[in-house]
Amino acid sequence: MSELTPLHAIGEFALINRLKKKVHTAQASTVLGIGDDAAILAPAAGQEVVVTTDLLVEGIHFDLSFCPLRHLGYKAVAVNVSDVAAMNATPTQIVVGLAAPSRFTVEAVEELYEGMRLACEAYGVDLVGGDTTSSRAGLVIAVTALGQVAAGQAVRRSGGQPTDILCVSGDLGGAYLGLQVLEREKQVFLADPEAQPELDNYEYVVQRQLRPEARLDIIHELRELGVTPTSMIDISDGLASEVMHLCAASGTGARLFSEFIPMANPTLEAAAEFNLDPITCALNGGEDYELLFTIPVADHAKIKNHPDITVIGHLTEQSDAVNLIAKGGQAVPLQAQGWTAF
Ligand code: ADP
Ligand code: MG
Repeated sequence: MSELTPLHAIGEFALINRLKKKVHTAQASTVLGIGDDAAILAPAAGQEVVVTTDLLVEGIHFDLSFCPLRHLGYKAVAVNVSDVAAMNATPTQIVVGLAAPSRFTVEAVEELYEGMRLACEAYGVDLVGGDTTSSRAGLVIAVTALGQVAAGQAVRRSGGQPTDILCVSGDLGGAYLGLQVLEREKQVFLADPEAQPELDNYEYVVQRQLRPEARLDIIHELRELGVTPTSMIDISDGLASEVMHLCAASGTGARLFSEFIPMANPTLEAAAEFNLDPITCALNGGEDYELLFTIPVADHAKIKNHPDITVIGHLTEQSDAVNLIAKGGQAVPLQAQGWTAF
């Protein structure tokens, strides 16, 4: 086995230098990347800048015993890109704050950065700076992402109108079931360190948990279809709480049809195995990073044949509240029980 270098052996500046070597910038709006006191950016004329940040804390948001560092790096970028996409904006740059325990090795940090580099490449984003320090607790990764959108074209949570159609991208519930599989295998491993994890049958849901993709593709496709959502939010905490956020901001109610909620077969199979109601996993699970958005009824024809967009209901007057309509037609007021940090 090759030698691993603990972080304390090389120090902050040498680490930054090693990371910097792997980073290349490609965005027209990046004037200066890593290396000075601050990066220099030049947004294109007529564009507005969006900025968002997400903090990932070991033991709260991820478990290094089953989360490979490369995937973690990828996810740290993807979740920020997802927030930028949810504003109808195109991501352009990120900066990365890193607090790593000194037990970490340089090679481990490089693995994390390799994941971030892959995500930057996939989403066309430049890594232009950050900050590095040690941590007495676990690993902390703070990613801040910037993006651009033509002035006035950003989509807020608040623009939904009663009668608008409610749509989601992709399928839901998978990430939560992936987490159940990983937690179960961890318990097996803790009981018997010789045990091999059994993940083969759960590839889809595990990948949904460990390596989510931001739906930037949907943003581009909606643009090509000539559809601008009236409101939008990304699904990080479960469909229920995101619908509630969107309706609260828009001053509307909603009718959400449980039979329309898109779910992949591997998700349904895993739910059955864990004795979980798949609808509950989609509503209250979280980390699916799909987009929830509303469009005017008049735009329905433009999206109805899109293979990766599903109509799940519509907005209503606020006085009608937010209701989940069961298969038999019975309406149940929705309770948001999404993941909360506290
Ligand atoms: P300062 O002391 O002025 O904050 P640093 O030594 O922290 O400067 O950073 C030097 C350069 O390296 C800066 O351009 C900064 O953005 C970049 N940098 C520092 N840490 C990271 C990191 N973890 N990832 C990417 N760039 C970083
Ligand atoms: Mg600094």
